[in-house]
Amino acid sequence: QGASSGETRIVRKAYFEGAGYVPLLHRAYELWDELGLLTRTGALFLGAETSRVLGGTLATAQQWDLPYELLDAAEVTRRFPAFTPPPGTAGLLEQDAGWVSPEAAVAAQFDRAARAGADLRHGEPVTSWTETAAGVRVTTDAGTYDAGALVVAPGRWAEELLPGLPVPLRVEPRTVRFYAPTDPAQFTPDRFPVWIWERDDGTAPYGFPLLGSGVKAAIHHSTVRPGGDWDAAEVAAMLAPLLPRLGDRVVKELPCTYTMTPDEDYVVGRLPGTAHVVVACGLSGHGFKLTPVLGEVLADLATTGTTAHDLGLFDPQRS
Ligand SMILES: Cc1cc2nc3c(=O)[nH]c(=O)nc-3n(C[C@H](O)[C@H](O)[C@H](O)COP(=O)(O)OP(=O)(O)OC[C@H]3O[C@@H](n4cnc5c(N)ncnc54)[C@H](O)[C@@H]3O)c2cc1C
Repeated sequence: QGASSGETRIVRKAYFEGAGYVPLLHRAYELWDELGLLTRTGALFLGAETSRVLGGTLATAQQWDLPYELLDAAEVTRRFPAFTPPPGTAGLLEQDAGWVSPEAAVAAQFDRAARAGADLRHGEPVTSWTETAAGVRVTTDAGTYDAGALVVAPGRWAEELLPGLPVPLRVEPRTVRFYAPTDPAQFTPDRFPVWIWERDDGTAPYGFPLLGSGVKAAIHHSTVRPGGDWDAAEVAAMLAPLLPRLGDRVVKELPCTYTMTPDEDYVVGRLPGTAHVVVACGLSGHGFKLTPVLGEVLADLATTGTTAHDLGLFDPQRS
């Protein structure tokens, strides 16, 4: 039921959402490689040079000296024949980027946790928690547990488990679709990177190469109307100028949700007003790539009260 499914998640480092994410991304990449789960296809960012997606990626790449290539529209098509960028659209290729399977990642992390001694209790919902003198008491539908510290990472259900969180959260529906392309050979991972395109109206679709279920594409962000409000025909029409061989035959459709903060930065840190509770929520539709390092940060905060990472962007106190 959560947000961590759907076959693929983009992992990229030259982060247009903010250069402040890069140190965490460096560590996340180390952990993805340790897990052996990151498939590097490169990431292609498309848009006007002034767009957030292209301009922001370029600014972060330059600030952190990350490798990238700028491509004009003709070069994009020469390198990646499925793409025909509309006039005025430039490309930036980040080679050190790609995708992970959220299902494989979650399974691998559960496996690691179990091997490290964790007692995993799937299907046992938490109904409440409270702080005690020594730590926390957690009540589930099966019993009560006392512990020294509590990590709450409730996704879209944050309101239920974290009432009074200073940062307001908004749950937004999204739909991802898998297409059967009219020319599948153009969409294979060796010639089709993961991509994000910011159109002139600010709408930003994104997608993946041809993998198990088809060519996945969806709307990440839209200034025109909510990202979940675009039907299959509208998305296909939007993508047709960029990807003329994608076609409009949808073979699979999945619902998902983004849990958004007002500034679209995450909420990670000690829960205000508590001594033993740390939280991670409001990942705002771009959190999966950082989950390995967020796990490390949360474990450090819960066990030592501190972390080597700068969490300034994610302060749970901000409102
Ligand atoms: C369509 C889509 C595409 C995305 N694409 C990308 C991408 O390309 N790259 C990227 O980096 N990010 C992407 N994201 C964002 C990323 O997937 C999310 O930020 C991330 O998965 C959120 O993880 P989470 O742990 O906060 O929430 P979830 O994965 O929803 O996990 C929350 C968990 O808490 C559990 N829970 C809640 N309440 C209780 C309770 N009372 N008791 C017990 N358990 C409870 C739920 O069962 C659930 O397992 C995408 C998201 C969506 C929806």
